[in-house]
Amino acid sequence: MTARSTTAILQLDESLQPPLYAKRGIALVRGEGVWLYDSDGQRYLDLMSNYGVNILGHAHPRVTAAIVGQASRLLSCHQSFASDVRAAFLEKLLAVAPHGLARAFLSNSGAEAVEAALKFAWAVTGRRKVVAAKRGYHGRTLGALAATGEPKYRQPFLAVLPEVVHVTYGDVAALESAVDTETAAVILEPVQGEAGIYPAPPEYLAAARRITRERGALLVFDEVQTAFRTGAWFACQHAGVSPDLLCVAKGLANGVPIGATLMTEDVALALPTGVHGSTFGGNPLACAAGLATLETLEDDGLIPMAGELGAYFRERLEALGHPLIREVRGIGLMLGLDLKTRATPVLKALQERGVLALPAGTTVVRILPPLVLTREDIDDAVLRIGEALDAVRAG
Ligand SMILES: *Cc1c(COP(=O)(O)O)cnc(C)c1O
Repeated sequence: MTARSTTAILQLDESLQPPLYAKRGIALVRGEGVWLYDSDGQRYLDLMSNYGVNILGHAHPRVTAAIVGQASRLLSCHQSFASDVRAAFLEKLLAVAPHGLARAFLSNSGAEAVEAALKFAWAVTGRRKVVAAKRGYHGRTLGALAATGEPKYRQPFLAVLPEVVHVTYGDVAALESAVDTETAAVILEPVQGEAGIYPAPPEYLAAARRITRERGALLVFDEVQTAFRTGAWFACQHAGVSPDLLCVAKGLANGVPIGATLMTEDVALALPTGVHGSTFGGNPLACAAGLATLETLEDDGLIPMAGELGAYFRERLEALGHPLIREVRGIGLMLGLDLKTRATPVLKALQERGVLALPAGTTVVRILPPLVLTREDIDDAVLRIGEALDAVRAG
């Protein structure tokens, strides 16, 4: 590969793709643990893990070894053939899954995991209606986009989207009146991510479970962002509520593309052969990376650690008592810093100070760090967040 200047990389990156993304103005070329390095050798503390993907940080030795080992054995294995590593990965994933989820369909992304859940709900119930939450995010393929609440994403495609009724998140009465005997599925994030980090109010998930059961609809939890980082394997486990279908993706293989739609035995056995499929889904490379990721999360005690570090991070942010902070929300290492100003200038000021974080909505700085960060990293991050907020306040 030709060595190029940063300017040349940024220029090619922008000019050769459609302008779909707001660009951050740096090129990332290397990562190690909680650190990312750009093409000029600048180092950044990673508080975003690529939207929650790099749950074990970058270049984790155990995941790297699993990828290298599998790449030298077998990359691809169609689902009509069994695979040793796929079997081992499924066994591990379902062992930590919420109660009652006994089987999984494997795909390659969050949207695909959601798309599969909706298709399965339609196929199994023979019903058509779907109920989702306002401001919910479920991805951008057509089925997933129909469930996504944000009008900005939906509006250009409304004519071709399956019909979905959107209700206010957290409002049990709204769910009671929207879900009827025509409803195939209710799909919810246990913590709304894209919307600005809003954990479900206590009892909301239990109410969704009761209402769907009463009306014969299936309950789908979208844990594409929440899985592994809230202090439990899955966020719904805090509420003790198990869905009929559960979607996972982002952190599941620490960066290798993967999606999984977990389901109950009842749902699985009601699915006809051939009703869905994926060529790359369940490939041995992604399964090997996924298995190494799950084993590392377990062996290194990272699931409870995320709860402890998240509580510490939150306390430290609250202790800043900064006049620009409206509220700190979230659970575990899924935090939102809701500001009294726009998030973008603060993210820019943070990037200039060597910290990468994300927006969620207009005013929220979203913090989704790798679980391997230390308390010292958090102290360092909070110091720099304070400085960035001061800089923005000073104008
Ligand atoms: C990111 C996300 C998706 C979509 O995942 P992609 O891999 O981008 O398709 C779906 N649901 C939730 C909750 C997400 O955060």
